[in-house]
Amino acid sequence: DHLVNQIAAGEVVERPASALKELLENSLDADASRITVDLGQGGIQLIRVNDDGNGISQDDLSLALHRHATSKISSLDDLEQVSTLGFRGEGLASIASVSRMTLVSRTADSEHAWSVSALDGTLEAPEPAAHAPGTTVEVADIYFNTPARRKFLKSESTEFAHCATVFERVALAYPHVEFLLRHNGRVVNRLPSESLADRVGRLLGKDFVAAALDIDEAAGPLAIAGFAASPSLSKAGRDAQYCFVNGRFVRDKLLAHAVRQAYRDVLHHERQPCYALFLRVPPEAVDVNVHPTKVEVRFRESQAVHQFVFHAVNRRLATTRT
Ligand code: ADP
Ligand code: MG
Repeated sequence: DHLVNQIAAGEVVERPASALKELLENSLDADASRITVDLGQGGIQLIRVNDDGNGISQDDLSLALHRHATSKISSLDDLEQVSTLGFRGEGLASIASVSRMTLVSRTADSEHAWSVSALDGTLEAPEPAAHAPGTTVEVADIYFNTPARRKFLKSESTEFAHCATVFERVALAYPHVEFLLRHNGRVVNRLPSESLADRVGRLLGKDFVAAALDIDEAAGPLAIAGFAASPSLSKAGRDAQYCFVNGRFVRDKLLAHAVRQAYRDVLHHERQPCYALFLRVPPEAVDVNVHPTKVEVRFRESQAVHQFVFHAVNRRLATTRT
């Protein structure tokens, strides 16, 4: 119900950037190859995400805005091995409860699109609409009906900066997807479909990629790829410590520790390396359902993961120095 959704929204949708993250993850889960983001006033006035993904059928359209309506898992067993970015089925419902949301979508086999709007928790009936195969979700006036939350929104430029951060993290993990970011009608970022090296170079600096070790190792079900550089080499010049697990940006002490140790072991200093590392583990080996925003993960066998990451980086670092 409406109130429950609004309470959940407090956890999932902390600010416009969190809504943007949910929408981008939905587009990627729908196998989009092109995603366009339009923001108005830092996302406060407008967040619009358009994709060319699988779309939502007419029958599922109203359902998609309901809490716990997810097409991605159907049992508790599925929860043990989530391979999509979303699975809790509360993203759209939460965002809809605190904004004016319109969803327009069309599946490949449908003759035209359907549109559904949610205003203040009430759903309008789906109406025929014009739209290419794929989905557009428009979120306007976030928190217009929850003044207490609206009060906590920062300036347009601060909220935009948070959105840009979310956009970059998602774009880093999906280099083959084409992205466009506009703010107040101006193009801020245009990313073609490209290699991981090119995408990392574009977002974190070509100097960083040029100076970095490229890491690409696998052992059994674990794999790691990406770039790492000692701070003296990197001109990324900012807090460039990015860890991704199965395409998801995470904050994880274990992974950060493993990379730091690997550097300390060879270079004998305490400075933080810069890195963008992409870890792949079997979905059942990691629990992403630790927090509603899914930015934390828990590894079932954390020691094995730590060792794998440590050795992958350490070995690469040791061989380039001899
Ligand atoms: P979750 O992502 O956890 O399943 P959401 O509330 O974010 O929950 O989305 C609900 C459902 O709506 C999804 O399971 C999916 O079926 C559908 N959906 C949402 N966004 C899109 C999209 N961009 N393309 C296709 N389907 C979508
Ligand atoms: Mg989702």
